[in-house]
Amino acid sequence: MNKALANMPAAIQIDGSQGEGGGQILRTALALSMITGQAFELTNIRAGRKKPGLMRQHLVCVQASQQISQAYLEGAELHSQRLYFAPQHVQSGKYQFQIGSAGSTTLVLQTLLPTLLLQKGVSELTISGGTHNPLAPTADFIEHCFLPTLAKLGIESEFKLNKAGFFPIGAGEIQIKIQPWQHQNKLCLLERGDLQRTEAFAAVLNLPEQAQIVQRELATLNNGLKLDKQQQFFLKGISQGNTVYVQIKSTHHNQLFTALGEKRKSAEQISDHLAEQVKQYLKSHAAVDEYLADQLLLPLALGQGGEFTAQCISEHTRTQAHMIEKFIDCKIEFVELNANLFQVNVYAAS
Ligand code: AMP
Repeated sequence: MNKALANMPAAIQIDGSQGEGGGQILRTALALSMITGQAFELTNIRAGRKKPGLMRQHLVCVQASQQISQAYLEGAELHSQRLYFAPQHVQSGKYQFQIGSAGSTTLVLQTLLPTLLLQKGVSELTISGGTHNPLAPTADFIEHCFLPTLAKLGIESEFKLNKAGFFPIGAGEIQIKIQPWQHQNKLCLLERGDLQRTEAFAAVLNLPEQAQIVQRELATLNNGLKLDKQQQFFLKGISQGNTVYVQIKSTHHNQLFTALGEKRKSAEQISDHLAEQVKQYLKSHAAVDEYLADQLLLPLALGQGGEFTAQCISEHTRTQAHMIEKFIDCKIEFVELNANLFQVNVYAAS
């Protein structure tokens, strides 16, 4: 151990290969470390992945966290499989972060949001990079599903997609204003309520024959689902890409399902697959989907807790619960009600 590290506070030890073993362990550790002031040492970072260690987008999460919390860092390098992070003092304010690749801007946002909303001042983040990435929430999911659900907890924010960014160029930009979390509500989302509207959106950026792509996507979705609204739009930005999403608006919850266009897949295949996901959700009685389930655990544990039903409990969600319980005094419970319905109970410490 070097001299500087010897003077640092004892760190929570985290094995990055546990459970789901992905970047979420790192992002959650960063968030919880900044919130609690506890240092951590993360080893075997993304050990289970094809290219293990910190990739550029993970490094941006580390650097952005360092910037808002004046953290002492070791091992913050590309491909590093070990990171020591000791936050000092979190400062709300205006920040700009550039991923410099098509790495996910929304995952950087989700790393910083929990810490910033617990500060006394307002914060404003502008993050550039990818806004529509595979294996991450799209900007649309953040705007129309994640943040509106957080609003039920009393978390106030204003989000804007300034420019869309798709792989490999990226160059998109999101912006968010985060208010201090003043009135914390408990979440009770055991039932999504009656289905009110099914809406589909198809968007393109700089693709040849783009008008036909969105029309075919919407037509396929309309065949598979009874749509109350369909809308196409053309995105701003310099990269190329296509995204489709469906919003299921029920009395108590708006759930979004997203898909990204792929080179080797037809517009019909993209929409068929998306419609299938939506049908699975409609068949179940769950309020939230697999992804929102893992994303809600941390805000709930930091606030008043609560309960919701989810379609399934992914390895991500279990790993997330384990990480949260490692840093803060709370309890997260998963109860299987039937094969497509789980109840999640979060008992917060406060
Ligand atoms: P990781 O794989 O550890 O980098 O974490 C990925 C994060 O992205 C998790 O919080 C997932 O819930 C989220 N995610 C992945 N795919 C989607 C999707 N299609 N819609 C919304 N969120 C997603």
